Amino acid sequence: MTPFIAKLVWWAGIVGWYVIRIPHERRSRKTPIAMRNEPVRDMVLLAISFTGLFVIPVTYVVTGVPRLADYAFEPALAWLGTAVFALSLALFYRTHRDLGRFWSVTLEIRETHQLITTGIYRHVRHPMYSAFFLWAAAQTLLLPNLVAGLAGLAGFGTLFAFRLPREERMMEERFGEAYRAYAAATKRIIPWIF
Ligand code: SAH
Repeated sequence: MTPFIAKLVWWAGIVGWYVIRIPHERRSRKTPIAMRNEPVRDMVLLAISFTGLFVIPVTYVVTGVPRLADYAFEPALAWLGTAVFALSLALFYRTHRDLGRFWSVTLEIRETHQLITTGIYRHVRHPMYSAFFLWAAAQTLLLPNLVAGLAGLAGFGTLFAFRLPREERMMEERFGEAYRAYAAATKRIIPWIF
């Protein structure tokens, strides 16, 4: 593994993520919406997350900026980053399959919305956010630059911290006792732990 190949792996991860998402984005546009939860707030958070997971690392990968934040490349970390990115994509694929037409970019309730508690959702309530954290961790392991490497964790972490309480409140308002029972029986993003 070389720094150049680690950057290619990062690119492959981005492309893989996008390929997995495309069909769901198309279907999402056709699924009628019953309720939107503060979409402007969501757009700001999505912009912050996008900056950390894409804009800052792509700047680094293409131009090497910011050079001051570089540190020595360690092949073993990059191999681990490759494995973590692969795991992230597999989980991302699975969450989209299990959540189906109830997935949305911003917080929304669909007209025929049902609470999903099966498949991967049996183990954690927010597996798609687990997948994003794995992606951000892979970015840290693959890119030997403090700023570009940690930007994803900072960006997605911000989105997660501000979005999660609103998402859970929205789900509880819509599904009431069923969601409270589901929340009592599952962790958020790491089975048995958090
Ligand atoms: N937080 C989830 C879903 C992300 S997509 C995850 O990480 O996997 C965001 C949308 O999913 C929200 O607008 C909400 O309407 C929907 N959603 C979240 N959890 C859900 C569940 N258990 N069942 C059905 N829809 C859900």
